[in-house]
Amino acid sequence: MTIPFNKPFFTGKEVEYIIKSVNSGKISGNGEFTKKCHNFFQENFAFNKSLLTSSCTDALEMAAILAEINPGDEVIIPSYTFVSTANAFILRGAKVVFADSNKDNPNIDADSIEALLTDKTKVIVPVHYAGIACDMDKIINLAKQNELLIVEDAAQAIDSFYVGRDGRKQRLGAIGHLSAFSFHETKNIISGEGGLLVINDNKFNARAEIIWEKGTNRSALQRGEVNKYEWVDVGSSFLPSEIVAAFLYSQLEKINNIQSKRRVLWQEYHNHLTVLEEKGILKLPRIPSYATNNAHMFYILCPSAQFRTDLIQYLQKTGIMAVFHYLSLHKSQYFNGKHDGRELPNSDYYTDVLLRLPMFYDLTTADVGKICSTIKKFIDSYSE
Ligand SMILES: *Cc1c(COP(=O)(O)O)cnc(C)c1O
Repeated sequence: MTIPFNKPFFTGKEVEYIIKSVNSGKISGNGEFTKKCHNFFQENFAFNKSLLTSSCTDALEMAAILAEINPGDEVIIPSYTFVSTANAFILRGAKVVFADSNKDNPNIDADSIEALLTDKTKVIVPVHYAGIACDMDKIINLAKQNELLIVEDAAQAIDSFYVGRDGRKQRLGAIGHLSAFSFHETKNIISGEGGLLVINDNKFNARAEIIWEKGTNRSALQRGEVNKYEWVDVGSSFLPSEIVAAFLYSQLEKINNIQSKRRVLWQEYHNHLTVLEEKGILKLPRIPSYATNNAHMFYILCPSAQFRTDLIQYLQKTGIMAVFHYLSLHKSQYFNGKHDGRELPNSDYYTDVLLRLPMFYDLTTADVGKICSTIKKFIDSYSE
């Protein structure tokens, strides 16, 4: 028996809704299921304005266009993130300035940002790694003082929150001027490929719709606000088809069920592995007091890169698929020679020792028990 790292969860309604969209005779984008999804985000998440996209990558690219990034503008991004966070801005000609991660979690070290600001800085991109909020009060203050935009990479952060110093609980994705979510099949809520741009600052609403619909005012025409549909700005085909939106809607309907199941599994991992942290062998995820946990991921921090490699192999032999994650972008092949030479030791640390354990809806608590006892067996037999 093997336990995969991820297995997409299907609610059972996906095909029914896809058939509905097919039978409606309209399967291109911005139709009934897209509206249902947009309404869901407005009513249940109180998002100001939402636009479904074909991926989080697309949503980030839309954000970079809306931020009016011009060649030479600087954007501050954690080095420990997915390539899309940086690519979206690089494609607009931005100079990406990589920041380090925190010592006790992989999120951007908010205290390190101020020293990176120049008069060319335009955007800060906090990435809520594993769905755990970045230290947003500090980032918001810096952005206000320096008139910068905040674009949240909330790809992993659906149904998670930030609790500010004033006690106010805010949904991740509702904090920055713009935010991007992912519905890739590895995330909590999925549509194969898929994403969402959230527009929290009304000044971007009109232009966002235009960029979304290939640079045309088609959305305004559909609402009867204009009487012809024409080319009014730059744009691309960022909207997904109704088939994708139909799939996504079936998942959104089940979000509470999906989230509570994942939280049980996360807690089960934590309960089993706490003893290894107490013994000083592994480190477990730390949830800061200002963050909630959406159980997107369960990771462990190994004592060394070699330990991680050996543990991955050991687990694989018993049919358990565990995987490491990002490689520091400032040291990537593409960015080689473009980085300013600063050491980013915490990003390199997570690159070397972070290991993600299987986490998906259909995983059972018995599976988690088996995975954790296999890790314990490995440790008992391990000598480096
Ligand atoms: C998954 C992910 C993305 C990309 O999402 P896609 O929907 O696959 O484009 C971007 N950033 C982060 C942090 C992610 O985890």
